[in-house]
Formats: sequence, C-alpha cells, structure tokens
Amino acid sequence: MHRETAAVTLGRGPGAPGDPVNAGVTFSSTFHAGGDIVYGRNSNPTWEAFEDTVGALEGGSAVSFASGMAAIDAILDLVDSGGMVVAPAGAYYGTRRLLGALGRRGVAHQLVDVTDTAATVDAARNADVLWLESPTNPMMEVCDIAAVCGGVSGGPLIVVDNTFATPMRQRPLELGADVSVHSATKLLAGHSDVLLGVAVCADAARADALREHRNVHGAVPGPMEVFLALRGVRTLAVRLDRSEASARVMAERLEGHVAVERVRYPGWGTVVSFEVAGGATAAEAVCDAVCLVVHGTSLGGVESLIERRNRWTGEEDTPEGLIRLSVGLEHVEDLWADLDAALSGR
Ligand SMILES: *Cc1c(COP(=O)(O)O)cnc(C)c1O
Repeated sequence: MHRETAAVTLGRGPGAPGDPVNAGVTFSSTFHAGGDIVYGRNSNPTWEAFEDTVGALEGGSAVSFASGMAAIDAILDLVDSGGMVVAPAGAYYGTRRLLGALGRRGVAHQLVDVTDTAATVDAARNADVLWLESPTNPMMEVCDIAAVCGGVSGGPLIVVDNTFATPMRQRPLELGADVSVHSATKLLAGHSDVLLGVAVCADAARADALREHRNVHGAVPGPMEVFLALRGVRTLAVRLDRSEASARVMAERLEGHVAVERVRYPGWGTVVSFEVAGGATAAEAVCDAVCLVVHGTSLGGVESLIERRNRWTGEEDTPEGLIRLSVGLEHVEDLWADLDAALSGR
C-alpha cells in the first residue's frame, strides 16, 4: 500500500455493517474491567487509531504524547545517569534546552555539525544516544541519515526528529534509525490547532518502554487532540504536495530578491529560511509588514507563518536577520505578492 493510501485508510477498525467510518473520539478516563485498556493514562481507543496509522507510515510502533517535547523528553529520559547524548548543534532549540537540563541528572551532551557525516560518526562512537534532526529547525541543515546510521551501527540508540520531513518524505527507521520522533503539532496535525507528539520505534520493546514512561510520568495526549491529528494525517500527502510546490517557488524568487542575502532551502519540504539584508531590524520590519502571511511562531499549518528566529532566547546562534517561512496552502501568487511587498517596503 502506498503511504498516501495508508494515511487515509488505516486506524478505522474492522468496518462491520453499521460501524462508523471514522475512529471516534473517546472521552473516557476509565474502562470496564477485563479489557486491554484499563485507564486513560494507559491507553485510549482514539490514541490507538492515530498510533496504528502513524506507526504504519513510519514503519514501526508509535506512541503518542502530549506534545513533541513530551515525546523527546520521554526518549531522552531512557538515558541513565553518566550517559552521553550527541546531538546537532542546529537542533530545535527546545531540544537543546532539554539537553542542557539533563546535565542536572548526570547526562552529558555534545553538539556536532550533523552535515559532517565523518565528524558525527566520530562523536557518536562512545555516545548512548545519537540524536539527529533533518532538516534542522530553523537552519535547514540536512544530515545524511543513512550514512551516519551505517557508520555507527551497533553503537548508540539513533533517534531522528522527523518533524520537517514527515514519513511522506523521509522514513528514518528504513534508513537505520531506532526511533523517529515528531512534533505532530506541525505537519502531521497540520492545522495549528493542537499540541501533540509521537515517537515511532523500530523495536516493539522500546515502544513498550515509552508507553510505560507515558503512563507513569503522565504526559498523555488528550483524545480530542489525537482525533484532530488523525484527521490531519488523512490529508497530509496532498497538503505536503501543495505546500512543497509553493515553497519551491518562494525559495526561487527569494533567491533573486535584492533584499535577500541568503536562502536556506534543501530543495524540498515546506519550510524556507532566508536572511534579509539589514539584520534584526530589517527582518522584524518584514515580519511586521506582511498582511496575508501570519507573523507568529510554529510551522506546518494550512496558513503560512513567518518569524525571526533570533528573537528567542536560545536562538542566539541563528543569524539575526534570519526569517523562517512555513509555507501553507494559500495560492502561491498571493503569498509572493505579500512577501515581496513586505521585503520591498511597499
Ligand atoms: C516544534 C518542534 C518540536 C517541539 O514540539 P512541540 O509539539 O511544540 O512540543 C520539536 N522538534 C521540532 C523540529 C519542532 O519543530
């Protein structure tokens, strides 16, 4: 089955006559004794529909969490005191902040340039976890996941933050990773209306360990959020196709724009980062001037979003004038007219 078909058809139940076509949203904290689901922290039928679908798309066993950060935290919490995590210098700033906090319980980390395969393999050799993210948020660095995984095989647990690519474009478990993790808040759910995370494991026992972690730490997703995210996954393939086509046009035109110094775009995907001449002030002016594109954080929704990343604490290493553009589903000519006017001070 193609991924596009799997995204639409899985997680619906057996389909006996009279059954609802959609997995329902199950608002119940407890369940009649004697079944597999006993309590709402242990599981929920809506979670299972979402997890079956995303698990199949990534080729593993999926566990949903209250947010992307909750999923990332659960994975990193599996590292014992004295352990070491190697991660991208350009990893999502929330991940880098969490890695910093892990120091308190004796887990060290080292940041590497994951575009440098040899350096990454070298650094990861003695690590417990090799954390990857590709493309990175917001610098759009791409890691050769297959080459890195091949270089360290038999070594650390390899985790890939697959938020930007989604399983429609990149399947980390097929490339040799052990876990693929998402901020499902972004492209998977796709409508900027939920916070949700999901971790997909190649090994069912590791998924069980994450389920146990979710159960005892309590970072459980709400059934309504999971229902909305599954609804988002149903249209992921077509949303991605449209946003990606528009992002390509935007990237090409930004390359040729006099106000733009540099475009960071890997040639695919729905996010384009670019640096404007004039640094922070000029970039903030562009963000304030757009009318159609929304000035706000996050990405992967139906509406296009821009923001200057360096305005956040923890993003001091990103260029001051760097703007991250998440391309949504508006007509590309409307998007370009808006951004071009903002860049040109019209
Ligand atoms: C947003 C994001 C996260 C964090 O996810 P939340 O759902 O906001 O907790 C993690 N990784 C990447 C790449 C992200 O873009």
